Formats: sequence, structure tokens, C-alpha cells
Amino acid sequence: MRPVVIAHRGASGHLPEHTLPAKALAYAMGADYLEQDVVATRDDALVVLHDIHLDRVTDVARVYPGRHRSDGRYYVRDFDLADLRRLKVHERTNADGSLVYPERFSATDEVFRIQTFAEELEFLKSLQAAHGRNVGIDPEIKRPDWHREEGVDITPEFLRTLADYGYQEHSDPVYVQCFDDKELRRIRHRLGCPLKLVQLIGENDWGESSTNYASLRSRRGLERLARTVDGIGPWMQRTYRLRGRDGQVHSTGLVERAHAAGLAVHPYTFRSDELPQGFSSFDALLAFATGTLAVDGLFTDFPDRVLGFLRRISAQTHSNQ
Ligand code: CA
Repeated sequence: MRPVVIAHRGASGHLPEHTLPAKALAYAMGADYLEQDVVATRDDALVVLHDIHLDRVTDVARVYPGRHRSDGRYYVRDFDLADLRRLKVHERTNADGSLVYPERFSATDEVFRIQTFAEELEFLKSLQAAHGRNVGIDPEIKRPDWHREEGVDITPEFLRTLADYGYQEHSDPVYVQCFDDKELRRIRHRLGCPLKLVQLIGENDWGESSTNYASLRSRRGLERLARTVDGIGPWMQRTYRLRGRDGQVHSTGLVERAHAAGLAVHPYTFRSDELPQGFSSFDALLAFATGTLAVDGLFTDFPDRVLGFLRRISAQTHSNQ
């Protein structure tokens, strides 16, 4: 079966991340799943933004000068939803204001806005009704511990919003993602959520402690994870290593062990304009991930390019039969 293509923050390689136009574009491109990252405002509204900060993707510093914390950052949690409505979203920038991906969409006079989680689900519902193609969602609960320190438990409201839009069964087209393993156990075992869950595994952040990484090296560790989640979403660089003088790419065995434990594997992030070490082209990276590793899904900023690759591979396979 071909892996599912997850539009990472929408078609974020083409339009500013997490905006509705980026979601509509990913939908039109044929992405199987659209991702939402969810954080809370001061008045506890859940909005779709990748960071707990606003300054890298909006004009917050211009609209609300001085409303940053002592670290100089502007936090979503310090603003009401009504405040966020006044902000314009732009392509992601570095701290110095330069574009993270200079080759990408860079116009700044267009008006892109922040939407709530519910507004995005409503938008997708209308889009699917108008267009006739169903699409799955891949929402992530961001920093649940940090939010609790800030006085809000975002998970119950997050799950209520999903239920409001009909996501209530294990078979529904949704993967709930989180880096926090403790929160995922709570969602599955205490809150009794039946939805498909994905344990995200970062470069150096996931779960409660670094000992978690040891659990990825054994099938038993992954089987333990499988009691709670349906899949893992590892940083792509955790799935392979380079060996030998010529830097040959080899699997670390993580994907194989996860599959043996019954877990789906959805690595991130596939970007044609930011290739990970060891790959000379986007096609080579995709061939390794989908062919050698046989991943079950891919998070990508470029759903069009990944779908194009999968169509070419499928056409070649058929013409060889
Ligand atoms: Ca995410």
C-alpha cells in the first residue's frame, strides 16, 4: 500500500505555514492528511500555530510592540484570540527577520490570518463537501506541560473539538500526535480516547526523559509504546545512519522494529529545499524512505512533489509487470 502523504503545516513549501490557503492548496494537491499544530491563547482559545511564540510567523512585534516577555519573545498565551485576529501571518523568519527558506513564497502584502482549531475543521468540512474528496487530519497537541504551567490544560478541549467535528472512533481519519509520552498515556488510558495516536520522536526532545531513547533500540521497548499509540512520528534522521567512507545510507532498524511491534511509522519532515545529510536529491530521499524503509506515511512541506514521486514509482512498477 502506498504511504499516506501528510501535508506538514499545509502545503507549507508553497504558502505560509498553517494558513487556510496553505491547507486548501494541500487539499487541492491531493494530500491524504493535513496537519494542525494546536496552542492556546490567553482566553483559552485553541489556535493553529506551530510555536508557542508568534514572532517568527506574524507581525506581532509591529502591532503590539512591547508585549513580549523578558526573553524578547511574544507568546500566544499572552494574547486573546481577538488580539490575534489583528495579526498578519507571513513566511517563517529567523530571529534576525531573514526568511528561513528564501526560495519559498515571500510576498508580504497578502493577508494571511491565524484561525482557531475549530475554524480550520469547519473549513475542511466545507471544502470536502464542496469538492467531494475526503481528507484526514493530523493534529498535534503542543507542549501540554508548558500549557499547564501557564494555567490551561489544552487536551480535553482539543479532544472535545475533535468530537464536535465527528472524530470519535478509532477508524476515523485522524492521527493525534504529541511529543509528550505521558500525555499520550493519559489520553489513551485515563481519558479513554479511542482515536489513533502517534508518538512523535524528536532529535532530542520527546517524553519525560532521555532513557526513552533506549526503548527505541529494542523491540520490547516499542511493544511497550504500542500499548498506547498506533504509530510513531520520528525525526527522519533517527531512521538511518551513514556508514563507510562514501557515506552509504543504512537503516538504523527503528522502522523495522516499529513495524514488528505493530506500529505505523510517519517520519518528518520531507523538504525538497532542505535535504538531510546523505541524500543527493529529493527522489533519492523518497526512494529510501518509501522503498528501503517502507514507511507508512510522510510529513512533507511539498505534498505535490511527494505525490508526483509516488505516482511515477507506481507507473514504473505497473509497466514492469
Ligand atoms: Ca507538528
